[in-house]
Amino acid sequence: MTHTFTESEERRTLRREVAKLASKYGREWFTDKARSGGKTTDLWLEIGKNGYLGVNIPEEYGGGGGGIGDIAAVCEELSAQGCPLLLMVVSPAICGTIIARYGTEAQKQRWLPGICDGTGTMAFAITEPDAGTNTHNITTTARRDGDEWVLNGRKTWISGVDEADHVLVVARAEEARTGKVKPVLFVVPTDAPGFEARPIPMEIVSPELQFQVFIDDVRLPADAVVGDEDGGLVQLFAGLNPERIMAAAFSNGLARFALDRATAYARERTVFQGPIGAHQAIAHPLAQSHIEIEMARLMTQKAAALYDAGDDIGAGEAANMAKYAAAEAACAAADRAVQTHGGNGITQEYGMAGLLVATRAGRIAPVSREMILNYVAMHSLGLPKSY
Ligand SMILES: Cc1cc2nc3c(=O)[nH]c(=O)nc-3n(C[C@H](O)[C@H](O)[C@H](O)COP(=O)(O)OP(=O)(O)OC[C@H]3O[C@@H](n4cnc5c(N)ncnc54)[C@H](O)[C@@H]3O)c2cc1C
Repeated sequence: MTHTFTESEERRTLRREVAKLASKYGREWFTDKARSGGKTTDLWLEIGKNGYLGVNIPEEYGGGGGGIGDIAAVCEELSAQGCPLLLMVVSPAICGTIIARYGTEAQKQRWLPGICDGTGTMAFAITEPDAGTNTHNITTTARRDGDEWVLNGRKTWISGVDEADHVLVVARAEEARTGKVKPVLFVVPTDAPGFEARPIPMEIVSPELQFQVFIDDVRLPADAVVGDEDGGLVQLFAGLNPERIMAAAFSNGLARFALDRATAYARERTVFQGPIGAHQAIAHPLAQSHIEIEMARLMTQKAAALYDAGDDIGAGEAANMAKYAAAEAACAAADRAVQTHGGNGITQEYGMAGLLVATRAGRIAPVSREMILNYVAMHSLGLPKSY
């Protein structure tokens, strides 16, 4: 059986519409917001109002009833217009997926509509200062106190806490049946007494910030636990593939944006006889980027198609590979875009240098390239675990 390697007409229309909407805002708007301490709320709410933010969430909760492939397409097109929204990875894709798959009926009704229309953004907090990549070592604890839970701990690098009403926090709690310590997911209001967030000064040019989070005796009602409190690990894993597919889409979009700007510049800028794009030293690296980006996009679409078809295992390998390929393609594209622009490549006016850090973050978060290589070495190649 032969399949064409093109997306459905519906998906392509979604891409065109999102690109059109985001182009009204554009890169200059985005960087102005970042440099002036502004926010991307207008764009966020507009994509919410148009149904793009919750396109992956079931229709009965205000979503579009689509899949991860759809929300990844939205994320990529926003990035490709120079308006990458990191909170799309977190709010609809991680938190939205986990709640839609494992939340109680009441939780779905309570949280999902706001995630879809953008009025109830949810951040996600798993990373801790001492555990880092080794999330099995997190020490944020949840203790029962009558009908309530009491949370204590520290989180770091948590994106968008200032823009979120709630954070989905991963903590450790004793499993009711066995007494073993297991991860449990809690929806924590950002205005809860004992919850504090401090911004981490970052070199990324983005209005979306990262925070250190301090959780001191935060009291939560029993229904703050998402789904089954004994099934935290399974529920957590449900968010991993969407997270990686979205991170890949985010990088693919940034890579396309860098390449578009570089190509446009290479067509125009003339210093000897013809435009600099006529020199192979400039043209070939850009052509290489085009190939690398298309390969990364194809792998991202494959990962999303497997995930949306319900193949979580198959999607795991593909999502890791897609995230790796996309981050590498984006880093290379940003570097080549800077070089193509010469001195202009490191001016604020052209905004290319800022892409170096933004794309570089894709090699670190949400999962580092080393951990992806560990995964592929172990799971795809059957090599021994190294850590
Ligand atoms: C911009 C940004 C946004 C983020 N947003 C969020 C968020 O919203 N919520 C959240 O919970 N977290 C978030 N994070 C955290 C992110 O997931 C972590 O930074 C990431 O998992 C790496 O952890 P670490 O920074 O502590 O690095 P470390 O764990 O200290 O690792 C340092 C280096 O050592 C390498 N290393 C570690 N162990 C191994 C090993 N076994 N084999 C090979 N190499 C290894 C790593 O790959 C890395 O290169 C964000 C991070 C960034 C940069």
